[in-house]
Amino acid sequence: MLSVEQALEQLLTSARVLNESEVVPADAALDRILVVPLVAALSVPPLDNSAMDGYAVRAAEAIEGAVLPISQRIPAGQIGSALAVGSVARIFTGAPTPAGADSVVMQEDTETVDGGVRFLKTTRLGANFRRAGEDIRPEQTVLTAGTRLGPAQLGVAASVGATELGVFRRLKVAVFFTGDELVMPGQPLPSGRIYNSNRAALKGLLARLGCEVIDLGLVADTSEATRAALDTASRQADVVMTTGGVSVGEEDHVKGAVEALGHLDMWKVSMKPGKPLAYGRVGAADFIGLPGNPVSAYVVFCLFAAPFLRARMGEAARNPISFAAPAGFTRSKGGGRREFLRARFEDGQTVLFPNQSSGVLTSLAWADGLLDVDAGVTVALGDPVRFIPLAELLP
Ligand code: AMP
Ligand code: MG
Repeated sequence: MLSVEQALEQLLTSARVLNESEVVPADAALDRILVVPLVAALSVPPLDNSAMDGYAVRAAEAIEGAVLPISQRIPAGQIGSALAVGSVARIFTGAPTPAGADSVVMQEDTETVDGGVRFLKTTRLGANFRRAGEDIRPEQTVLTAGTRLGPAQLGVAASVGATELGVFRRLKVAVFFTGDELVMPGQPLPSGRIYNSNRAALKGLLARLGCEVIDLGLVADTSEATRAALDTASRQADVVMTTGGVSVGEEDHVKGAVEALGHLDMWKVSMKPGKPLAYGRVGAADFIGLPGNPVSAYVVFCLFAAPFLRARMGEAARNPISFAAPAGFTRSKGGGRREFLRARFEDGQTVLFPNQSSGVLTSLAWADGLLDVDAGVTVALGDPVRFIPLAELLP
């Protein structure tokens, strides 16, 4: 059995970064991965400017009780003239400060009087004064290669005037689902059958990562159908993913099909839910076989497949944030495998979903995190336990 860390490390060493990129409009780049660093050609802000509505001053002149005349008015977007000695400029937030001014007094700290403004306080040198380039300087790398372009990153790109961005092309992931018990929602459900829930969850997870999903749907539990699906999938996609059918039961044909068309490593990972993790290659495509049980498939996706796919699509690695929090429950000695329990963080403590079975998908819909509990550990009320927010495992 491999530890979680060992399995992840082995998987990540197989993640070849895509070698194709494209240029996309910045407006359409949300959740894409930057392929080259974004370097600024200008300063942000371009000029010294005011952080407040008020008066641009020389701090030495703007002392408590002094009255100074207003020599000019500078709205945002306009350039004033040099500040006459012994005067102030009426100025607004974002407006460039006039030459000679070194501070801005907010209007709340003044009162207007005949002949100008009176200062209610002595001005601190540099107050409310934003320096040119204090955010970004020319030639500065504002976003590094491998950055996922979220809202903040797109904002930064816009602030330096970018209209197009070089990004990795989207990773193509083909999925199919095995199990003759499965029925698609929308179809009647005969006795003995269940709806295919892994498809909806997996497609959602892949969409979150920004993958292009090729959905080959349900595949019959025969070796012929499984091989045919795998062959089609591997010709169209960078990565083929399946759920179920990788155990050693006689109805499990995925393992045999991958071995017949390519090669497969079956790893037993010391974790619960999960344990079996299949990684292989078919032609030029990677293969990842997730467990069939919906909770196992989801957790194994989050802990293993997601980091693999993110590395494969060029995204720089980043460890999920987790934190220790008191257990709001007791739990008798766990088994021989590390457990990832479905939990919530509420009122400063962690709460467990009552049914931790790997078939109970409502546990994941309820949870906002996974509790990472080492093998063989007994948890008493108030013991610190490690909480990994689910949001940390996905972009
Ligand atoms: P398997 O790995 O194929 O033996 O499946 C393990 C368990 O997961 C069985 O109870 C299956 O019915 C269930 N399962 C497999 N695939 C799916 C799916 N796509 N949706 C819901 N349950 C599934
Ligand atoms: Mg099956």
